[in-house]
Amino acid sequence: MSLLEGKTALVFGVANDHSLAWGIARAFHAHGARLAFSYASQALERRVRPLAESVGASFVELCDVAHDDQIEALFAKAKGELGSIDVLVHAIAFANREELQGTFYNTSREGFRLAMDISVYSFIALARAALPLMPQGGSMMTLTYYGSEKVMPNYNVMGVAKAALEASTRYLAADFGPRGIRVNAISAGPVRTLSAAGVSGFKRMYREFANIVPLRRNITLDDIGGTALWLASDLSAAVTGEVVFVDSGYNILGAPAPTES
Ligand code: NAD
Repeated sequence: MSLLEGKTALVFGVANDHSLAWGIARAFHAHGARLAFSYASQALERRVRPLAESVGASFVELCDVAHDDQIEALFAKAKGELGSIDVLVHAIAFANREELQGTFYNTSREGFRLAMDISVYSFIALARAALPLMPQGGSMMTLTYYGSEKVMPNYNVMGVAKAALEASTRYLAADFGPRGIRVNAISAGPVRTLSAAGVSGFKRMYREFANIVPLRRNITLDDIGGTALWLASDLSAAVTGEVVFVDSGYNILGAPAPTES
């Protein structure tokens, strides 16, 4: 079964083969999608280009989402080379390391601005830029985390950013619904990636996760890819504005089950 045959997906956020965006791209490729990629900096190109080529993608373009002119240039190129797209994946977040440790009240003004700009505003900017390339409708998605709803140690300003990202997902879904474009967020459990390593205490939290969650296991890139595939495909044709948890059930818990010892 090829759920994305004839569809084109533009994926932002691959840094390496551990990236959630890569798990998503793999799943899309397995279901027949044509893929296109963007990477954040020259330094990442040597990692991203071979990955892109391994799934037959020839559109691999630089775009630092902090810059409107780079977003504009990327979508102009995408229009020329890809024509239209059906799926937009936003798997981008950034905060300075010093904001992801210690107390939240020490968040700096610049640290707050940067986290909101790169992790939230960029989704709005990319969604707006993608709109003219999606005249037949389509699916947009972003990646979020439960730290948006509940306090997680050291997640701090990124929790606030994820709350704003989830709210933005709902507003975008309302704007774009009449055009047949669905907008959703995947709330992922912890996965060992470059970004996750920036959150103080992540390793320990990751280790303990499998002992606590209902499914008693960590989540994988394939788990994320599977849900992204569902959101990209017509199987989820009436789903929009949602935050879909892919977290082995962590978010349903009030308190962890006592561990057997
Ligand atoms: P990652 O480091 O592999 O991906 C983050 C991506 O953001 C990288 O590709 C990086 O290049 C990109 N990025 C950062 N600044 C950018 C900029 N200015 N312009 C363009 N791109 C920029 O890590 P990941 O864990 O795969 O993160 C992807 C998304 O998943 C993020 O939104 C993250 O918050 C979210 N998420 C991750 C986890 C986890 O445990 N790993 C859990 C829940 C949600």
